[in-house]
Amino acid sequence: MDEFRLQKTGSTGPQTELLQLGLTRAGHELKKDGVFGPLTRSAVVSFQRRAGLEPDGVAGPLTWAALRPYLTGYVRHTVRRGDTMYDLALRYGVRTSAIEIANPGVDPRAMQIGSELTIPLRFTVVPGDICFTSLVMALCAEGLCARYPFLRPAEAGHSVLGRPIFCLAAGTGGRQIFYNGTHHANEWITAPLTARFLEEYAAAYAEGTTVEGLDVREAWKRVTLFVAPLVDPDGADLVTGEIASGGTYTSASSIAAEYPDIPFPNGWKANISGTDLNLQYPAGWEEAREIKFAQGFRCPAPRDFVGTAPLSAPESRGIYTLTREHDFALTISYHTQGRVIYWKYGDREPDGARALAERFALLSGYSVEDVPYASGFAGYKDWFIDAYDRPGFTVEAGQGTPPLPLSSFPAMYAENRRIMAAGVAWAAGIEQDISDS
Ligand SMILES: [Zn+2]
Repeated sequence: MDEFRLQKTGSTGPQTELLQLGLTRAGHELKKDGVFGPLTRSAVVSFQRRAGLEPDGVAGPLTWAALRPYLTGYVRHTVRRGDTMYDLALRYGVRTSAIEIANPGVDPRAMQIGSELTIPLRFTVVPGDICFTSLVMALCAEGLCARYPFLRPAEAGHSVLGRPIFCLAAGTGGRQIFYNGTHHANEWITAPLTARFLEEYAAAYAEGTTVEGLDVREAWKRVTLFVAPLVDPDGADLVTGEIASGGTYTSASSIAAEYPDIPFPNGWKANISGTDLNLQYPAGWEEAREIKFAQGFRCPAPRDFVGTAPLSAPESRGIYTLTREHDFALTISYHTQGRVIYWKYGDREPDGARALAERFALLSGYSVEDVPYASGFAGYKDWFIDAYDRPGFTVEAGQGTPPLPLSSFPAMYAENRRIMAAGVAWAAGIEQDISDS
């Protein structure tokens, strides 16, 4: 990956934050504030010394390369004479079981000298305390697949700028369900929300433990969970400041200039071309167009432009195609904000949907509501319910003005971990014993 930019004194933004994340995980005490000041510089210098690099305090390609394991959560280790799993576990500070999970097919008592092992490092891969950009998503997807090789990538297409829309599948069961996040750019906090759940779910499977009282090994046999955390990677890059100059930035800011009441880039919900990805699905698209045109959104805009036709945006098309190619019994689309669960499309009430919405509400403290008429068309949930007549939800997580601050992540995750576990339990047809979590 050559997307890492040089970081030095005075640098700011998501990549500075990412650098600070790596340094923190490597053992340096540091605030992840996205500003490269004297403390960040001295952490870089001591990291460089430890890594045998020239300690110049500037993070270029070699420093990024040395830091990479702390961003993906794993290292590759070439087996030497005398290595044992136990020694490796001690050296890297992880359990032998974690190494065994990451290396299926390797006999711990007969490791081949010269062969490569994946060693997971002792922290959670998905960060909940830095801006989530397309680069962070790519690093997380790589790290999760390395640490949990039983996760499978699923094809969900590409963004306008050609970034993959990552989707990972967990489980071997015949019942398929789908959780997605970040149809809206400035709601990117729903990416770590869903990705973190996937990570916890995979870890619980590997270790034979529970998540919110859900027996994950049992669920795994019955359900396959698909998770696409970042449906709008380009838009998230714009809102987080990863895209802050150049032609792409200029064209987005000239779209935004037509809408002076919408803050830029913080009010940006659309994809990078100015199409609202959650007004793109073929269920009431004409109604959505009429409503949004009347509100003044007739051409590319930071939000609420329905596009030139249903599925004209590659991101929505990718998610639509993924859905068509599978057989989802349940979908949850994550948005922010309001602590609300939407579960209907017009008057359509799929079997079981109301009861499940009420269960989610009970577990999370969120309320179950009907969608206001003006936002009731052409969303993913709307189309899913219309096309399949099965439970499809929009969950508006958290409270505040998007983009919600990362300080709200822990509470938001705790509430929605219960919803996500309950969705799996429902699909698996198994009881959850919440009291033991
Ligand atoms: Zn939204």
